[in-house]
Amino acid sequence: MPLTKQLLGWYRTNGRDMPWRVKGGAHSDPYAVWISEIMLQQTTVQTVRDYFLRWMKRFPDVQTLATADISEVLLLWQGLGYYTRARKIHECAQILVQHYAGKIPADREKLLKLPGIGPYTASSICCFAFNLPETVVDGNVIRVLARLYGLTHAVTKEEIYELAKPLTPKDQGADYASAIMDLGATICTPDNPKCPLCPWRNHCVANKKNLTNQIPLLQKPQKQNRIGNLWLIRNSQGSYCIRKRLEKGLLSGLYEFPWRYDSESPLYPLSRPAFQITHTFTHFKLTLRVYCVSADTPPIPDGLFVPLAHFGDYPFSTLMRKVIHKI
Ligand code: SF4
Repeated sequence: MPLTKQLLGWYRTNGRDMPWRVKGGAHSDPYAVWISEIMLQQTTVQTVRDYFLRWMKRFPDVQTLATADISEVLLLWQGLGYYTRARKIHECAQILVQHYAGKIPADREKLLKLPGIGPYTASSICCFAFNLPETVVDGNVIRVLARLYGLTHAVTKEEIYELAKPLTPKDQGADYASAIMDLGATICTPDNPKCPLCPWRNHCVANKKNLTNQIPLLQKPQKQNRIGNLWLIRNSQGSYCIRKRLEKGLLSGLYEFPWRYDSESPLYPLSRPAFQITHTFTHFKLTLRVYCVSADTPPIPDGLFVPLAHFGDYPFSTLMRKVIHKI
């Protein structure tokens, strides 16, 4: 496999250093691999780095995590978004302690039965923690292989998987997966790829035919726009009303200021907003108009009044943290 050999050779000297992986085989701590893989879903490597180090310091192993209080887990996750991931990690740690003696199984089928672990994460754990020859396909891999093979149509993950499979070596699954991801992240970037530095430059169809700007062809789904109204209800001591979301659904268990969608009846008559905040979720974009209200104004809201200085004790979503930064 000359392509694989060239890529691994490039990776040995050019691969990125990350706290959750090693060059030359599997990481010695599958727990660290699992945590990093969940954090890296929907989040950049740069953002994850600090969160990962903080997390490993506080929850260094499955047992410590399993016995931690969920509110502390959410607090440490605060700002990473997609909080269901944190809840599932916690739940998964408890299952690992109960059924797997606190160890991460080196078996894709068993991994897939655990909460929060889908096909991509299961393959990544098999690769990075156990050096198994699993084929991992993410956005970077799709871009690199679509260009390498000159695919000018809108490619599917399945199609790329079939092309990636024969390139995956039997005995160096971890290095190969890291290498192709690093190539996509640092050389075969979405804009202006650095083809002269690429180990595959002489084989790459997109490079030879000058098609790098046209590949991959992406079909981005349109995000729906939603509008809501949020009230900063302040009492005479300068504390703000916050409430805990239900334990199910979007942003479950996190704290928030009272708000409603624009299509619902407002809590207070709508006046001129003090400011507005927009946040993009996976499937929609939400714009919240923010109003300031005195706690003396009826109706008296449900919730607790907390001084701004104590907000750090409560887990808030990224959206609500954007509001707090504006207060
Ligand atoms: S030669 Fe250029 S376009 Fe082709 S894989 Fe390498 S970086 Fe990407």
